[in-house]
Amino acid sequence: MEVLNLIQGKLSAAKGGEWLDLTDPSKGKVYGRLPRSGSDDVNHAVESADKAYRDWSTTPVGERAACLNRLADLIAKNGTLLSLAESTDNGKPVSLASAVDIPRAESNLRFYASAIQHFASESHSMEGVAINYTLRKPLGVVACISPWNLPLYLFTWKVAPALAAGNCVVAKPSEITPATAYLLSTWVKEAGFPDGVFNIIHGLGAEVGDALIRHPKIAAVSFTGGTSTGAHIASVTAPRFKKLSLELGGKNAAIIFEDCDFDDALATTLRSSFANQGQICLCGSRILVEKSLYPKFRDMLVEKTKKMKVGDPQNPLTKMGAVVSKEHRDKILSYIELAQAEGGKILCGGSTTTPENEPHLSEGYYIQPTIIEGLNYDCRVNQEEIFGPVVTIQPFDSDEEAVHFANGTEFGLAATVWTQDLKRAHNVAAALDTGIVWVNCWLLRDLRTPFGGVKNSGVGREGGFEALQFFTEPQNVCIKL
Ligand code: NAD
Repeated sequence: MEVLNLIQGKLSAAKGGEWLDLTDPSKGKVYGRLPRSGSDDVNHAVESADKAYRDWSTTPVGERAACLNRLADLIAKNGTLLSLAESTDNGKPVSLASAVDIPRAESNLRFYASAIQHFASESHSMEGVAINYTLRKPLGVVACISPWNLPLYLFTWKVAPALAAGNCVVAKPSEITPATAYLLSTWVKEAGFPDGVFNIIHGLGAEVGDALIRHPKIAAVSFTGGTSTGAHIASVTAPRFKKLSLELGGKNAAIIFEDCDFDDALATTLRSSFANQGQICLCGSRILVEKSLYPKFRDMLVEKTKKMKVGDPQNPLTKMGAVVSKEHRDKILSYIELAQAEGGKILCGGSTTTPENEPHLSEGYYIQPTIIEGLNYDCRVNQEEIFGPVVTIQPFDSDEEAVHFANGTEFGLAATVWTQDLKRAHNVAAALDTGIVWVNCWLLRDLRTPFGGVKNSGVGREGGFEALQFFTEPQNVCIKL
């Protein structure tokens, strides 16, 4: 695979002619290359977007929506290709890519194609004196920067509202998983986007990403990724007064009360712990179980986890694939070591592995799904984001203690609560310092709802009209009567 930039409607290599390796984590082998773009490429992309802005921002919403819908059609038509590409690039099971990542990318485009046509602004009447109305203007050229864990899913979640609202976009996918954004870029013209409206540039975050966020013509940055990268981006963009949306890391708690629907809680907790090899910002990495239920829940979760085997991500039956890179695998393993040093007991997993009878995958980056008990809520393993197939499990005595443990981190993205008691569900949900609470479910998503975290998990919300508000600037017009 040779990934190229999309600038001014043309696919091209980086101006500097440099390349980066593209690795298939299931085999631990290089399978392609991507441009190592730099500030020259950023300047070119931003200038192209700036030139296209006037026409695009005044294009009727129906026409902008039609471009998004045609791109969604092309995603649907190429679903199998995209699912295989996502799996090869990221190590995720192709079954997950084809059931979740790629359909969701299509939905993101269709959702914002529709939402922009229902997006309205306010008017305020000063009885008999004046009338105010609020215009919602696009911002200009915006940067959309996305991570590697749900590559096309999170990429489209940003570019769709940005483009729908009339902005021109320079998007930068993760250098670790650029393949599906590249495939998308080959269809942008066919979807009808005028040249320069939608640009995609590839390369390292610290190089091309950094040049992008500093560019004086970038009006806003929408970023999803790690908390420390988010802090850096905030420090660069704040003094330049750019609008900023940050979706950052998580350390989510799954709180399981004795009165839960046991089978549902168990099956869903297995999924919320290990889906996408635990590499979803919304995965529940800290499982808190009411003391009376703890031994039963723990033992059955361990039993089910032991049955989960890593396999070839490209095999449609595989549920557990490879983690995204060698560096990331080593980071996850270092946390398993730390857990032991902190007094944790490994109940299952705990080391690397390889798929059975698949010698061609022996160099891939696989980790056994791992459950650890015996750690305090405030130790490093329970405080820092691991972002892999590693969870901790811990008993609690009361609702208050569960909330105390759940809130006892610097993160505040999501939490899951399992109980049949409605009053308890409402009270615990309200007491949790997170942007999202799921009661008796996990990752059930309505695209109209506000999505995002508090504390070190981010600033601002995506989803629904929130994203359209982010990608527009209100202007009040006051008319004296
Ligand atoms: P990352 O912060 O390393 O990289 C994210 C993106 O930022 C990449 O495209 C990268 O190239 C770019 N980048 C890196 N340095 C940059 C810089 N100086 N300037 C501009 N851009 C730069 O994150 P990652 O490792 O790709 O993703 C994993 C993280 O993302 C985890 O912490 C996870 O929790 C988080 N995440 C959060 C959400 C959410 O919605 N809150 C969703 C998915 C992932």
